Amino acid sequence: MNKQKSEKVGWHFDQTYIKLPKDFFVEQLPIEVSNPKLILLNEPLLKSLGLDKESLSLEAWTNIFSGNEIPEKAYPIAQAYAGHQFGHFTLLGDGRAVLLGEQISPDGKRFDIQFKGSGQTPYSRRGDGRAALGPMLREYIISEAMHALNIPTTRSLAVVATGDVVMREESLPGAILTRVAKSHIRVGTFQFASTLNDVNKLKILADYTIDRHFSECKEEANPYLAFLNRVTERQASLVSQWMHVGFIHGVMNTDNMSISGETIDYGPCAFMDRYHPETVFSSIDRQGRYAYANQAPIAQWNLARFAETLLPLIDQDTDKSIQLASQSVNGFSDQFQKSWLQGMRQKIGLFDEDASDINLINELLILMQKNKADYTLTFRHLSSDVILKDAIFEDESFKAWYKKWLYRIQKQKEGEATSKLMMLRHNPAVIPRNYLVEKALSLAVEDQDYRFLNDFIAALQKPYEDSKVFSEPPLEEDKSYQTFCGT
Ligand code: AMP
Ligand code: MG
Repeated sequence: MNKQKSEKVGWHFDQTYIKLPKDFFVEQLPIEVSNPKLILLNEPLLKSLGLDKESLSLEAWTNIFSGNEIPEKAYPIAQAYAGHQFGHFTLLGDGRAVLLGEQISPDGKRFDIQFKGSGQTPYSRRGDGRAALGPMLREYIISEAMHALNIPTTRSLAVVATGDVVMREESLPGAILTRVAKSHIRVGTFQFASTLNDVNKLKILADYTIDRHFSECKEEANPYLAFLNRVTERQASLVSQWMHVGFIHGVMNTDNMSISGETIDYGPCAFMDRYHPETVFSSIDRQGRYAYANQAPIAQWNLARFAETLLPLIDQDTDKSIQLASQSVNGFSDQFQKSWLQGMRQKIGLFDEDASDINLINELLILMQKNKADYTLTFRHLSSDVILKDAIFEDESFKAWYKKWLYRIQKQKEGEATSKLMMLRHNPAVIPRNYLVEKALSLAVEDQDYRFLNDFIAALQKPYEDSKVFSEPPLEEDKSYQTFCGT
């Protein structure tokens, strides 16, 4: 793209990752695609990044988001990383992604602009470097829903169908998702740095990450320990927020845990309909490692892997370093519990704190499990005065719980009505339910009919507004619902 045009469009690239040692990335252009077609473009996000939609034709945007045309000053790379996948350590890297560059938004923030599905790289191993349209639309739907729910997440800027076919179990239309993130530095990036056996390089990565995301740590007596503390706090907060909305990430490998604290890598993730703590959707997660209720302990396990990488920086004395790092990672449990409880209090309309709240919440969850109640709608119904027909509301034990709960919220100085107003702002009515996601994807991918998809995405932008179509639970629970990785 010529210089004048690039400025008019609003690109303001400032590449800093490429100043890291060469071990951390390779220069990599997206591989050309044959016949790109723009399927989704996130206009509000485009604008917030400082990009002017009107400055280019749709065809020109399509060329950009397919990787066929590279804006001036972009410097595409593939990043190296490693990771524990289901507990097993592997060297990985962007096998099907390219970081176009770091865009500085008009409000001075830095965002990675990354293409996912943009072709092979030196890290592709046996993969084709490509992605199918269905999973890329799925990431767009769910990541944007998470954003609207106020949960830290990578965003989705565009989906382009490539016009090429990708071979999976069947042949599928290919696509590229443009992902926007605070950065793509993962726990696995630090694990990769550790494999270099060079403390200096590890330190360069740590200093870079601290500068980029946790600059306040530089003022601390032990910046690397402070860094570990901050990453731990952000994960505790993030995972508690997943729990509040019934989100199951599905593949919490260490390469899929972002240091900045954003939800990243929407593969086999899904929202739970009926409440059950052991819910798992991922086809490959046979042991339930990444089940709903396991997410906090797994996040902590991942943080322990992260802490191990920082040991050489935390203290020269290894024993002391281990002691400090362990203390930090052990802090996760309390932080998680605190943030979880705080959010659950909001979900049931509590402004003040009482020691018995935890029991009140747990009793409700047990009743939901027993009655196979819809997680989202139970809270939503409690928030309003609708007459409830679901089984849980007929359960005598629930009725007793309900009385106790009403008494608890009426006793607060804010009163019942204010509590319910707060609940309506914290309990979504619209989430990306599996059956709706599947319907949107099948219409889009098989029939090239994007109306339902676009309506669904629009409804998900206002999750706290009831919707006739998109708030409905599935007619019947689909016990066989399965999600897939890396497709
Ligand atoms: P994910 O399951 O998406 O977190 O991916 C795990 C690793 O596999 C990452 O290094 C990806 O880049 C890589 N990968 C996934 N799918 C492909 C593919 N089709 N071609 C090449 N690499 C891939
Ligand atoms: Mg990944």
